[in-house]
Amino acid sequence: MAKIAIVGAGISGLLAACYAAKAGHQVKVLSYGQGALTVAGGIIDLYGYDAEGKLVTDPLAHIATLKKPHPYALLGAQRIEEALEAFKALTAEQGYLYLGDGHCNQKVPTAIGSFKPSCLIPPSIESSAIFERPKLIVVGFPLLKDYYPKLIAKNLRHFFGDKKEVTTVEVNLNWPTGREYRDVSALDLARELETSVGRLNFITQLKGKCGPDCALVIPPILGERPELSASIQQELERELNTKLVEVSTIPPSVTGLRLDRLLRQACLKLGVDIVEKAHVVGFTSALDASGSHIRKQESKEKAAKICKTLITGGFGASHEYSVDAVIVATGGAFSGGLVTQMGRMYEPIFGLEIPVPEDQRDWSHQYLFCGQPQPFAAYGVAVNENLQPVNPAGEIILSNVQFIGRSLQGYDFCFEKSGNGVAVTTAYHAVKQLDTVLADTAALNAALF
Ligand SMILES: Cc1cc2nc3c(=O)[nH]c(=O)nc-3n(C[C@H](O)[C@H](O)[C@H](O)COP(=O)(O)OP(=O)(O)OC[C@H]3O[C@@H](n4cnc5c(N)ncnc54)[C@H](O)[C@@H]3O)c2cc1C
Repeated sequence: MAKIAIVGAGISGLLAACYAAKAGHQVKVLSYGQGALTVAGGIIDLYGYDAEGKLVTDPLAHIATLKKPHPYALLGAQRIEEALEAFKALTAEQGYLYLGDGHCNQKVPTAIGSFKPSCLIPPSIESSAIFERPKLIVVGFPLLKDYYPKLIAKNLRHFFGDKKEVTTVEVNLNWPTGREYRDVSALDLARELETSVGRLNFITQLKGKCGPDCALVIPPILGERPELSASIQQELERELNTKLVEVSTIPPSVTGLRLDRLLRQACLKLGVDIVEKAHVVGFTSALDASGSHIRKQESKEKAAKICKTLITGGFGASHEYSVDAVIVATGGAFSGGLVTQMGRMYEPIFGLEIPVPEDQRDWSHQYLFCGQPQPFAAYGVAVNENLQPVNPAGEIILSNVQFIGRSLQGYDFCFEKSGNGVAVTTAYHAVKQLDTVLADTAALNAALF
């Protein structure tokens, strides 16, 4: 049993923690702040659009054609397929199903009434009823922030033309919030629908307005807790004799929060120790630990490649955690996993420099919505097939450290629609490669003295 430290509690960190604990390791997650799941959708986009911006119909087949340094090219299509199945199995164990597979992009309805491609989705977002049923009713709620039923209905009419009747309806739940108090979010409504009073209110106001020939398009409100979501959906659909379809992601992201909650529950059950407010600010190597005992230059270089401890700072006193291996899941610039300055980008814990153009104007296209991948989006940590960080010559910089998720180089998640896909698959792959990483490190250690 090895001591594995995971840095970061976003989707990739929490998943890696679960897999490492299942593999029999002693796992500690050092976590500071929340991951992007709190604002992003809890759906797993694998690969939506190719480099020309064309919709990809079979993501796994397309992934087999990608070149390094794209993270998928390091993993290979077979490992990616395995990782998606492992994710489905883990979430199903927690009572929350994900539908789909890597060979098919499903059409996920968005909060502006368009559709985006995604591979693994919860049943509440599954949209076939929108395509199959002749009537669509977009359900709105007064005071709900950033949700515009008329805009959704307008875009759905535009998409389907005369083939469907699209209308809107307003439901007034009796929540104790309101304009004088604060904005109402989808999370408030999701919590409201976890109560029997909230569900009765919803049913009473919609009864008679819908039926088996229509689909109700709703914000993500079918419960905050993942384990309740399916039963809430079934009860409302049974009582209204209709089909409900949630649209993806308006922050705070209820679907993302469901997944976040599920992964934390899974971590707890598997005995993972999650340390909150543990901001990892640095590390010590075997060279630091051995001081002057190592004489030969060659051995010094080897010792510098072994991470011995992680150092946390932040709110409390500084603390040092000893480790056998580290999985770094700290996200991109959004989450602090990468730091950008004028003409410079670096990874802050291990001080890894990311090669970027000196002139910041070369980092991006002049136009944000230029229909092409953005150079800056693909900047990140370079790794080998085991996800160990490497220098431009391909040499391992740190032997017992692996990077996963958003901090990796070589992909534009926003353009490709591959964000959670890379996070989920690299988390699985890192743990699968842990034995190799630990063996590499043991060999280095043995050669030190
Ligand atoms: C608005 C938005 C919408 C998105 N929508 C989708 C979508 O619909 N589908 C999809 O597939 N993808 C989507 N994505 C992309 C997806 O959310 C990310 O690719 C994915 O969440 C990355 O996960 P991660 O675990 O690598 O990083 P993150 O989720 O960013 O987690 C990193 C974690 O590490 C912590 N951390 C950072 N530094 C340290 C440190 N030094 N010490 C301790 N902890 C640290 C951070 O606080 C954070 O908790 C979206 C992203 C955004 C921003």
